[in-house]
Amino acid sequence: MGKRVVYLDNAATTPMGPEVASAMEPYLRGAFHNPSSLYAPAQEARAAIEAAREALASSIGARPGEIRFTSGGTEADNAAVKGIALANAQRGRHVIVSAIEHHAVLESAAWLERMGFAVERLPVDGEGLVSPRVLARTLRPDTVLVSVMMANNEVGTVEPVRELAACAHEAGALFHTDAVQAYGHLPIDVAALGVDALSASAHKLGGPKGVGFLYCRRGVRCEPLIHGGAQERGYRAGTENVAGIVGFAAAVELAQSVGSEDEVARLRDHACARILAEVPGARINGSRDARLAGNVSVSVPGVSGEALLMLLDDRGVCVSAGAACASGSLEQSHVLAAMGVDPSWATVRISLSRATSRADVDYAVDCLVEAAAHLRSVS
Ligand code: PLP
Repeated sequence: MGKRVVYLDNAATTPMGPEVASAMEPYLRGAFHNPSSLYAPAQEARAAIEAAREALASSIGARPGEIRFTSGGTEADNAAVKGIALANAQRGRHVIVSAIEHHAVLESAAWLERMGFAVERLPVDGEGLVSPRVLARTLRPDTVLVSVMMANNEVGTVEPVRELAACAHEAGALFHTDAVQAYGHLPIDVAALGVDALSASAHKLGGPKGVGFLYCRRGVRCEPLIHGGAQERGYRAGTENVAGIVGFAAAVELAQSVGSEDEVARLRDHACARILAEVPGARINGSRDARLAGNVSVSVPGVSGEALLMLLDDRGVCVSAGAACASGSLEQSHVLAAMGVDPSWATVRISLSRATSRADVDYAVDCLVEAAAHLRSVS
């Protein structure tokens, strides 16, 4: 019998369902044509892109023309942060981001800093929440853009985006949110949230890797970063990833119709309750109330994070230490540091999906309890 493998790293990426693969298949084979070509088969590819654009726009209450396809969340974040700051630089050169943003936003902001912008990084509280009051104090007359994520990828905290966006607007600044972890998991209505730009990525919700979108509200000025052909109305040159775009829309349709986040949240609460009861000294990171259904971020005192992950891997449990991109490095993540989590504690991120079973969660928690006890006994 093969080794049991339990995949609980859905915040890093998700498996693609067979329905999504089937929706993509025609565009990887027979319908391979370039959507910019004028003959009939190519126009079918064009129509598939536009149908996907409509479906994705409607999923967030946007207009199709406000959706620009990208190569994923990273490109959407770059396009928003750099593009909006550059296009509005004549109004001011001050940008605000939160300290717990994904590196795609943080590094875009750092690049703007090297280009002569002033960048402020907003602190968070112990739960990872950005305070609208702190934002209000930080806004300046020359602030052009505020970027705060909808939900954090490491600790699952859901930020008060509506309040933060209102605050930015009061000061005359535009507001972008990285919704890569939230899209497909939380209801999103861009008008109700009041955001000017929003990033999403397909592979976090059962879609293919390498495709995402940037919602950019009509009328918001945003400098394109990729120059070339006239695709995406000149905002993003390059032949479109037709199969990826079709798969993205299929994944969103599936996320809207299959399973419920409430069930995921119940499993999460079950995992948290067991961990707190069975791992001495353990604490759950992030907000208790405002958190993603699938996220369990747990810190354990007195054991090595790397050793803990290795023992879990030995038992076939796939989880993350902090963010996926920080794994392999022993440095504490910037998110946990900003929240004031003790760097000597081991932190594990367990991320569930609608496909996760209670048996999988129980197995992973059993392994975590045993691994933590073993490491304590030998240290
Ligand atoms: N933003 C957040 C919050 C993420 O979690 C990720 C992926 O880990 C990204 C952006 C980057 O998305 P992508 O992997 O599609 O480039």
